[in-house]
Amino acid sequence: MKKLFISFEGIEGSGKSTQAEKLYKWLNSEGYDCIFTKEPGGTEISKKIRNILLDKENTELAELAELFLYLADRAQHIKEVIEPALFDGKIVITDRFFDSTIAYQGKGREISEEQIRTMNEIATDGISPNLTILIDIFPKKGLKRIKCKDRMELESEDFYKRVRQEYLKIADENPNRVKVFNGVLSPEEIEKDIRKVIKPLLERIK
Ligand code: ADP
Repeated sequence: MKKLFISFEGIEGSGKSTQAEKLYKWLNSEGYDCIFTKEPGGTEISKKIRNILLDKENTELAELAELFLYLADRAQHIKEVIEPALFDGKIVITDRFFDSTIAYQGKGREISEEQIRTMNEIATDGISPNLTILIDIFPKKGLKRIKCKDRMELESEDFYKRVRQEYLKIADENPNRVKVFNGVLSPEEIEKDIRKVIKPLLERIK
């Protein structure tokens, strides 16, 4: 069975959720059997984990506890949503996946990337997106778009600069999987560019 698993990545305010939703709606309107999900919070249990992660009151949350909560969220998401949907032949679109953990907890929090990669491998049961759409934007510009900030969105500009650089490094190291889009363009222009990349993949799963 040919599977299509697409993740969207980018820093806060890059416009990744906007584009993930646009792609989902377009694929649905074209008759594809498709699901749209997100991390953290893609299952009922994950929503509880998400609340802990994004709660501004949790200023004492330890860096490793944060890492394990994201991994727990992912393990649940894979078992309950992503793996069954791919098994059923559906196209899966997720707003954030394992690259977020490398970029945010690896580079942002400076936890060993090698260890995170191993833990990601365990949490995902070895499942990797076929395509990752990275929406790239300068942190200052992205953060300006965010009105109501959660715990992660309260990080410094310097933190987001490190996260952005790591995302770009991941894209450099994985040119076949990760495609970078310019987040300062209009939502319509970005959507058009994304469709150009998706169309050949749709041919492949026909
Ligand atoms: P993210 O998921 O990356 O945090 P969102 O898609 O939620 O970002 O978008 C954050 C805000 O920026 C929203 O108000 C959205 O309408 C706006 N936005 C999204 N894409 C663009 C764009 N290309 N240009 C200008 N504003 C945008």
